[in-house]
Amino acid sequence: MTNREDVSTPRRTKEIIQRHGFQFKKSLGQNFLIDQNILAKIVDAAGLDETKGALEIGPGIGALTEKLAQAAGKVTAVEIDQRLLPILEEVMEPYGHVTVIHGDVLKLDLQQLFAEQFGDCQSVSVVANLPYYVTTPIMMNLLEAGLPLENIVVMIQKEVAERMAASPGGKDYGSLSIAVQYYSEPQLVCTVPPSVFIPQPNVESAVIRLKVRQTPPVQVKDEAFFFEVVQASFTQRRKTIANNLKSRFFSGEGRERLEALLAEAGVEPSRRAETLSLQEFAVLSDVLYAAGLTV
Ligand code: SAM
Repeated sequence: MTNREDVSTPRRTKEIIQRHGFQFKKSLGQNFLIDQNILAKIVDAAGLDETKGALEIGPGIGALTEKLAQAAGKVTAVEIDQRLLPILEEVMEPYGHVTVIHGDVLKLDLQQLFAEQFGDCQSVSVVANLPYYVTTPIMMNLLEAGLPLENIVVMIQKEVAERMAASPGGKDYGSLSIAVQYYSEPQLVCTVPPSVFIPQPNVESAVIRLKVRQTPPVQVKDEAFFFEVVQASFTQRRKTIANNLKSRFFSGEGRERLEALLAEAGVEPSRRAETLSLQEFAVLSDVLYAAGLTV
């Protein structure tokens, strides 16, 4: 074997892992990619070139990092597991424009990281095969931080990807769909079987691309209140929107006031939250906010 063989070939991955005596930690969501086609699809979806930067979360032994290094002008990778640092140092040795940071991505100051790492880049993408146990907090942190991001291309659990991209009316549509679609335009890139990882996860995976919006698709009077209304509306999916909102905002009051406000927002009280579009939630939350209901 030569060192030029890609990190992600099953042979080189096994060789690196054995030589370093690396033991996978399930608790850190360690499932490493060993499939060239899937890696190419992830990197292609990010639309990188030498003027652009990529932030990778959880580089593992560097399968994706290597491909990002070949496509982007700057790559910064944040890895929580200290045991992987010497491996990454060895594997990334040919790539001077790759920086590996040891840390928990949920605890880092992302604004500062962006300013320090990507000052010279025309745009930045997050590209990662995420640890599944923290997918939602990582994604929401990235979206809510108001970072100068072009897009986010990630491998996540298929079921979560379907919820993020779901349209109103189906069982997958919920508060996660609305939160993600408020900040971005999601698009499923491909679904991925467990066989492309070692060790194999117990679930199906998918690659999803989120084109980050510069401005939200709706202008609401109070963002925190909008998300509170969305959350409250989905508290019990089988209940009507009127019943869910009553439990959260109108416990001491009569139903007439709630029904009058729903009528003002153009929402039938018998509808369920899963039938409301993001635009309808925006109108509803503004009507409730103007009526003096607050978080
Ligand atoms: N990118 C590699 C690949 O595709 O082969 C590894 C992906 S593996 C699914 C997830 C990686 O995220 C692991 O290397 C794990 O140690 C790392 N990780 C887990 N939690 C993390 C966190 N909170 N912050 C940074 N990295 C984390």
